[in-house]
Amino acid sequence: REFSANVSHELKTPLMSISGYAELMMNGMVRPENIADFSGRIYKEANRLGNLVADIIQLSRLDEQQDSTVSMESVELDELAQDVVNNLRGHAEKKEILLDYHGEPATIQGVRHVLYEMLYNIADNAVRYTNPGGHIHIYVGKRGGKPFYRVEDDGIGIPKSEQKRIFERFYRVDKGRSRRQGGTGLGLSIVKHIVNFYHGSVKVESEVGKGSTFTVKLQIAEAK
Ligand code: ADP
Repeated sequence: REFSANVSHELKTPLMSISGYAELMMNGMVRPENIADFSGRIYKEANRLGNLVADIIQLSRLDEQQDSTVSMESVELDELAQDVVNNLRGHAEKKEILLDYHGEPATIQGVRHVLYEMLYNIADNAVRYTNPGGHIHIYVGKRGGKPFYRVEDDGIGIPKSEQKRIFERFYRVDKGRSRRQGGTGLGLSIVKHIVNFYHGSVKVESEVGKGSTFTVKLQIAEAK
């Protein structure tokens, strides 16, 4: 029940902005020179709404375990992480963030797009919460024969007292900042869900102003 209440609140906020801006434009209350700015705000809020809907759908599919047993296949985690890095490179470059990647072969049985989402959400956060000029190191490989993923950034960091809570649905350390960056507050709860399915663990080490390191260990048996 709490989740539904949060969802409707979170959906309403961007919707209210979109209809508010559109109404002003429709009634001729916006000067022609400000039209681009207003339509830009509508565009941004609509994107955020799109992200939110996608995340909610993903979570409810995971809740129903729809994806978790169907289409299991042999997945090369290192190749998947390379795709994540390639897809984030443009965003990182725009922020002048150096993104480096080191991958060693790590294969597991799993659902490709679900694993992709897990890798992507953590790396995307690193780009999102690192200031221009920062550095991100991404590593995939094996530790003790188990698939291992680590994303290290020198970004804004997370206060000790909040480190447990960031995995909760809709929990954000700084709501305004997350919003401005297009965040939904659901990314890490999706990660946690996926990691649990693979009987793995996700750990964060972080210091405010110094950066954060997220480490995922997956426990599932490796593909032969
Ligand atoms: P969001 O969509 O807000 O990024 P997430 O569930 O992915 O939602 O993350 C929850 C919160 O955890 C974020 O709002 C942010 O406050 C914090 N966070 C996550 N990753 C990082 C990081 N690499 N550096 C600093 N803060 C982070």
